[in-house]
Amino acid sequence: MDPTKNNSVPLALFQALLKQYAEALIISDVNQLPFYWNEKAERLFGATSTDFEKNQQVIELIKCEPPSPNLPFVETDVVRLTSPGPFEQQPYHRTIETLEINGTVWHFIRFTELSTFSLTESELYIQSRTDELSQLLNRRGFQSTLEQNIEKRLALAILDIDYFKRINDNRGHSAGDQAIAWFADQLNLEFSDAICVGRLGGDEFGVVLEVVKEKDTERRFDQFCQTISRQRPVFYPSGISVSIGVAISKLKNTGSRRLLTAGDRAMYQSKQAGRNQSTSVELI
Ligand code: GH3
Ligand code: MG
Repeated sequence: MDPTKNNSVPLALFQALLKQYAEALIISDVNQLPFYWNEKAERLFGATSTDFEKNQQVIELIKCEPPSPNLPFVETDVVRLTSPGPFEQQPYHRTIETLEINGTVWHFIRFTELSTFSLTESELYIQSRTDELSQLLNRRGFQSTLEQNIEKRLALAILDIDYFKRINDNRGHSAGDQAIAWFADQLNLEFSDAICVGRLGGDEFGVVLEVVKEKDTERRFDQFCQTISRQRPVFYPSGISVSIGVAISKLKNTGSRRLLTAGDRAMYQSKQAGRNQSTSVELI
């Protein structure tokens, strides 16, 4: 590792982490190139500190999807890597944890032998709040983030995909799964400024925004209905629509339960009024 490369990163923190982990740990930056690593990583990849950065296997195995806007983010999978030793190819658990520190995004990539694999407490915490299919916050993560921001003036939207069962029935369960992942991407794109975006269960999602102008908030969800219904996703070319209910609080400190109940009711009004629309209610 070369700690002189960038003075703006919390070097002491990285060095402490690299020392603390008994397993191979590589830290990469937004360019997804090795930035810091420990000796265990050098041994695992059979590389020296001078050629580590250029090792093709390292570069390939630390690449990850562009980080979700909902940081922190953690993902674990199994990869096979060719390491020096008795076995040609060995499976390892790869855990990619993405964090934002002082406004900079970092990836922490750990490689663990299958027999000794265990998640750290922070990884368990993130996983317990993340929905695996959509990679959004799950209901628990969503509700606790909502509670943490309750002193702000909030708008809470409940979004439920219309006739979702038909996707499963007509195109199979895997098309339904694709629809959920696709819809989550659309939400992340349109509401990247949200306080939180979550999958509350099944085909129901939630978005929490800080209210600046009430009319703008209403308009954004009306437009989102149109954005969704205009698209023709490959896995469901006839198109998807969504019904939305938005509870907009007039004041700060509106209770989370009140927001959730009002958002839910407004969403059902949209369903009853013919779907593919957004209904907003004001909470005084
Ligand atoms: P509505 O317009 O009234 O919302 O009709 P709908 O068909 O969307 O009805 P509903 O919201 O009740 O249907 C949700 C369905 O979503 C029921 C369940 O079988 C399916 N579902 C729930 N979770 C998943 C999942 O993770 N993957 C897939 N493929 N289907 C799921
Ligand atoms: Mg539905």
